[in-house]
Amino acid sequence: MPLRGLPQYHCRHPGSPTRVTPLPMHPFQYQRPTSPAPAVATVAKNPGATFIAGGTSHLDLMKEGVYRPTLLVDVSGLPLKQIVDFEGGVRIGAGVSNTAAAYYPAIQQRYPAVSEALLAGASVQIRNMASMAGNPLQRTRCPYFRDLTQVCNKRTPGSGCAALGGYNHVHALFGASAACVATHPSDLAVALAALDARVQTTGPRGPRTIAFPELHRLPGDTPHLDTVLEHGELITAIDLPAFDGRSHYLKVRERASYAFALVSCAVALEMDGPRIRRARVALGGVAHKPWRVGPAEALLAGQPPSEKLFRAAAAAAFAAAKPLAHNAYKIPMGRNLMVRALLETSGLQPLQGPAGTAFAASVGGMAGRLATPR
Ligand SMILES: Cc1cc2nc3c(=O)[nH]c(=O)nc-3n(C[C@H](O)[C@H](O)[C@H](O)COP(=O)(O)OP(=O)(O)OC[C@H]3O[C@@H](n4cnc5c(N)ncnc54)[C@H](O)[C@@H]3O)c2cc1C
Ligand code: SF4
Repeated sequence: MPLRGLPQYHCRHPGSPTRVTPLPMHPFQYQRPTSPAPAVATVAKNPGATFIAGGTSHLDLMKEGVYRPTLLVDVSGLPLKQIVDFEGGVRIGAGVSNTAAAYYPAIQQRYPAVSEALLAGASVQIRNMASMAGNPLQRTRCPYFRDLTQVCNKRTPGSGCAALGGYNHVHALFGASAACVATHPSDLAVALAALDARVQTTGPRGPRTIAFPELHRLPGDTPHLDTVLEHGELITAIDLPAFDGRSHYLKVRERASYAFALVSCAVALEMDGPRIRRARVALGGVAHKPWRVGPAEALLAGQPPSEKLFRAAAAAAFAAAKPLAHNAYKIPMGRNLMVRALLETSGLQPLQGPAGTAFAASVGGMAGRLATPR
């Protein structure tokens, strides 16, 4: 029996209603500054203005009628496209493309979780356009958010949440509220959260540094706000702090490529001889932000790696999960994925192929690593 209140793109089978009324044209202005200061000043003073970088998320939302900006300030011409060594780590300019970052040698060698997360996302063409700042700032893939016929507190504050009583199979297990149960979709953000990346910004009140796990918000009663960024605050760079451990990113999705995570997991392990000195684990696809699992990290610290330990850590990570009507499957899926990611990262049971996808062993280069650009 069909579920009621399904978003439109779940209903495109023969006989289903599809949207036939075209959206009215929405005029907007466009500027392309060449330095950050005028970009910030222009957006800050204009409530209807937004930044746009690669446009791979922003333009879709405009075409779908979810965004209706009056002014687009294109930041793709800003001089923010360098990757440099910084304080023993790496500083990645906000305008660096996802492809360039994924194949940058220091990132591939020292922060493979970042490279794997980038290559597990979208398609080659999209990664070539997408920027390092735009990726973690993409909006939720909750289908009701993009369907103007449905209520959505994130799109229209106070209107309600269609996902709560609808088909919520891709929605949150942790940190949700009565106003919104959406998940954050970026793969990159999960790896950055596990590695304690730092976000450099410049805004109307000057520059600041934001610890990556604090960049995104939980929905609470203001789900229209995804991050702590102010209007007009521009991300200029993302810093990966010094790290000499091992890291990996694994992702489970409905197709082996070109699909968002149902559940994902980034692990960063630092070893002290045969024991784990420090473990950092972030989950994706389970909350409104990348979800660090502190109790599991505490269980892992000081212990020698073993499958038994990893299973205990995964059980601790999901102990507080609160499933909705249609997403309880994510709990065993997430536990198993976390164990797999820990086995891979610790070296106890390496995968046969690239780590970006959990199905790497069976599908070989589908995560994109065989396609190193020349
Ligand atoms: C078909 C498809 C499949 C996809 N699959 C995946 C996937 O599997 N995994 C995944 O992680 N992603 C996926 N994506 C999303 C994709 O990664 C993002 O669209 C992309 O990374 C956004 O980067 P952009 O530069 O194009 O951002 P834009 O679309 O230009 O902007 C996105 C947001 O960031 C803001 N912004 C941009 N730059 C700055 C800045 N410097 N400072 C402040 N704000 C800024 C914009 O105002 C906007 O709100 C997919 C996208 C598509 C279309
Ligand atoms: S879960 Fe959030 S994004 Fe989805 S319909 Fe509800 S309020 Fe909107």
